[in-house]
Amino acid sequence: MSLKVCEIFYSLQGESTFTGLPCTFVRLSGCNLDCAWCDTRYAKDESTSLSIEKILDQIKIFGCNLVEITGGEPLLQEETPRLISQLLDLKFQVLLETNGSQAIRDIDPGCIKILDVKCPSSNESDSFLYKNLRYLTKRDEIKFVIGSRQDYEYARTIIMEKLSLHQSRIHLSPVFGHITPARLAAWILEDRLPARLSLQQHKIIWNPDQRGV
Ligand code: SF4
Repeated sequence: MSLKVCEIFYSLQGESTFTGLPCTFVRLSGCNLDCAWCDTRYAKDESTSLSIEKILDQIKIFGCNLVEITGGEPLLQEETPRLISQLLDLKFQVLLETNGSQAIRDIDPGCIKILDVKCPSSNESDSFLYKNLRYLTKRDEIKFVIGSRQDYEYARTIIMEKLSLHQSRIHLSPVFGHITPARLAAWILEDRLPARLSLQQHKIIWNPDQRGV
């Protein structure tokens, strides 16, 4: 059994409540969406087939307890839940970043899921699977990437009407280079929105176009 892998690298976690922590990233290949501001288009095509054992071997080389499975969209591959379970069995702390369109029901509850809700400016706002909300725990996180005032208002409506149980782990992240953090911060403060302003820290520390960070 194997997975299609785009890249495996070690860096600082750039988003979520784990921001700033050393983390090993496993970026799986392929995606079912075509977001307007996608910054990992290469993950759709670049792919090496690796067994779970080989992936685990590469992860172990970095000696880092925190691992994020990301993409592309990692839940398109049948073996992804098995990879997550094996990492948890080996006592890694595991994060899964998913675009919100795929069912999370069968993911090991020990994994912390970071679920994207796509906003209108992504052109993929119909993709979110609302029944996934049933399977979120208070440890899981929800992320809205905001590219416009319309996106903000869309996110605000969903947060206020559907996400009251997950208040501490909701992130609003400005599309890098499209909307300033200050503007998004002002909107959150004005509405007293129960959400965190989340900046893509890796794009601030390093060149925003750099891969593998
Ligand atoms: S879901 Fe993620 S990887 Fe897929 S197109 Fe959107 S931003 Fe890119």
